[in-house]
Amino acid sequence: MLKKLFSKFTRRKSKVYAEPNLMNAYARLPVSFVRGESANLWDAEGNHYIDALGGIAVTFLGHCHPTISQTISLQANTLIHTSNLFHISTQAKLSEKLCKVSGMDKVFFSNSGAEANEAAIKISRLYAREKNISNPVIVCMKRSFHGRTMATLSASGNDYIQKGFEPLVSDFIHIDYNKIESLEELTDNKNIVAVMLEPIQGEGGIIVPEKGYLKQVRQICDKNGWLMIADEIQTGVGRTGYWYAYQAEQILPDIVTSAKALGNGIPIGACLAQGKAAELITPGAHGTTYGGNPFACQVALSVLDIIEQENYLERAQELGTLLKKQLQQRIGTTGKVIDIRGRGLMLGIELDQVYSDLAQHFLDSGLVLNITGGGRVIRLLPAVVTTEKQINQIVDTIGAVIDSLPSN
Ligand SMILES: *Cc1c(COP(=O)(O)O)cnc(C)c1O
Repeated sequence: MLKKLFSKFTRRKSKVYAEPNLMNAYARLPVSFVRGESANLWDAEGNHYIDALGGIAVTFLGHCHPTISQTISLQANTLIHTSNLFHISTQAKLSEKLCKVSGMDKVFFSNSGAEANEAAIKISRLYAREKNISNPVIVCMKRSFHGRTMATLSASGNDYIQKGFEPLVSDFIHIDYNKIESLEELTDNKNIVAVMLEPIQGEGGIIVPEKGYLKQVRQICDKNGWLMIADEIQTGVGRTGYWYAYQAEQILPDIVTSAKALGNGIPIGACLAQGKAAELITPGAHGTTYGGNPFACQVALSVLDIIEQENYLERAQELGTLLKKQLQQRIGTTGKVIDIRGRGLMLGIELDQVYSDLAQHFLDSGLVLNITGGGRVIRLLPAVVTTEKQINQIVDTIGAVIDSLPSN
């Protein structure tokens, strides 16, 4: 029945992809993109798609941004890699710029989000040593996502990420997100050294906390001498209309982790810190071969420059408001939509139930997005270069697909 309902969207026969030498890590959709430009993608058959996912919050500036491509080409012909055994001027420049936009003091560069969080967790352990706490506990949130390494999956508040990998790294405890009492209740625990959270939960289903929540978390951390770690890997670098989402509440975490949009597709991660947290890493305590190489740093510098020069923070806010408003008008009263939420260009549409093959139906109608939050939340992370006409098209397509979903 579903097949029939969606037949009008079907553009092509599902292709079979033979890839016997790949580990079976991903339940992939049957499409392979071969070219991208701004918010557009094309597959091998020449079908066109609007990309409202951006590689999961990565290509904030769109695909193949001409300035980024030029930077990549120039830097590839200048210097790609040396080693952290030596000074790297682009790394120093990028750290200066990142500190300026974030309010942090110092940066450690990695290659991915999980690695940036690993650095944050290691800093928390060093902080515990300073405080003579031998069994340090980090408070994390239910439904959080922090990565797939052993420590970061242990920090993530989702069984499906942890299952099969026990024993987990200790000691992470998980409390309710957006419920300040659940944090207040922990103030007797003398082993706590840090609180780690996403300012808006991404994988968890675009969960936006109440206004004031992050500020209260900051205050509790201050009162108890806990580090506040903001995982901004999905929310950061302009996504929510701020450089970093915590800036909406005028607070400063002790540690901020960043990745995804920072390289617009070139792998880079960063663990930023201020105050005492910025001083704990000393030579020999942490390191990486690739992290902070001249190539990735020059690209990230270019990303930050473009966001600044083009006023893309404002644009993200503007475009996000437009998208949200149009979605509310088009699908807000369908009865199948429970909530439309988010900030800037990070939006979630919560549906009343799990609809099977939803992402596939969108793909068949030429729209790339993703379903998260237990299969009930449509996640939109469009590029800041998406045109207003494309915003209309995104809304039309989402409207058409939701209309054709079976109501119960
Ligand atoms: C994607 C993500 C990570 C993990 O980043 P990787 O680069 O995939 O390791 C961590 N935290 C959050 C909030 C994320 O969205």
